[in-house]
Amino acid sequence: MTQQSSQLSAVNTAETHTAKAALSTKSVTLAYEDNVIAKDLTVDIPQGKFTVIVGPNGCGKSTLLRSLSRLLVPQSGEILLNGENIHHQSTREVAKKLGLLPQSAIAPDGIKVIDLVSRGRFPHQKWFQPWSEADQQAVELAMQATGVIDFAEFNVDQLSGGQRQRVWVAMALAQETSLLLLDEPTTYLDIAHQIELMDLFQDLNQIQGHTLVAVLHDLNHACRYADHLIMIKAGEIIATGSPNEIVTEALIEQVFGLSCLILSDPISNTPLIIPRGRKTAN
Ligand code: ADP
Ligand code: MG
Repeated sequence: MTQQSSQLSAVNTAETHTAKAALSTKSVTLAYEDNVIAKDLTVDIPQGKFTVIVGPNGCGKSTLLRSLSRLLVPQSGEILLNGENIHHQSTREVAKKLGLLPQSAIAPDGIKVIDLVSRGRFPHQKWFQPWSEADQQAVELAMQATGVIDFAEFNVDQLSGGQRQRVWVAMALAQETSLLLLDEPTTYLDIAHQIELMDLFQDLNQIQGHTLVAVLHDLNHACRYADHLIMIKAGEIIATGSPNEIVTEALIEQVFGLSCLILSDPISNTPLIIPRGRKTAN
């Protein structure tokens, strides 16, 4: 992870804003029929960075991710993937460039781990070509990276919530896309597995150059791992930039209605948010 200086000014977000966008929304309106979740929303996902999206429950994070991955068609505006309208590209084309780990993925009944992870290879396969060495290798590497190789022959529904989550991540990795969208990837994991997975994402970003977008609930993980943080409230972007640039007590109060104290995380020199809670608030 890039170690940001805590002295960066709160208004200077130029560094993250000048990076080329791998994916962006241009004035989109996102809605479920009449229920408008976000209006006139413009967001850039910078190429090669680790972007984290945070915001209260129901503010539209998953809706945004679904639109960025072409699952939800905006009522107006457009979504650009590598500069081109995502809805002018085929499902297979998009799936070669972009992988999504949905928030509540449900595995088909009775499917084995290895078979679920193998589904990540779908966009790379052609009907006239058999399962290749490259497919096999991608599946094995993905299972190794996520520590699920020992469960390869298990049924997915035999696994714990945490193990299952890692299988879904393996499926997304097997897809071998340069862009990965992860909706609450660390939910259900214990703290050690959360960090292990966040470190894996960081390696994918820093060593392999993947562009990552993750929705996270843990603000301290968000601050520690994000190069670029997007804070959303009620379908509106409230702040974007590196955590050291944008995170203040006032911002956390504004977005989450939470009174907190912000220290510097001694490991990463990023904001460490300590909730005051009702009993200790003054
Ligand atoms: P978040 O991920 O930030 O918790 P979501 O994007 O899931 O929020 O949801 C934003 C709003 O959209 C919520 O009010 C939710 O009830 C509504 N919503 C989400 N999915 C659907 C859906 N499939 N149909 C109708 N409304 C939905
Ligand atoms: Mg969500």
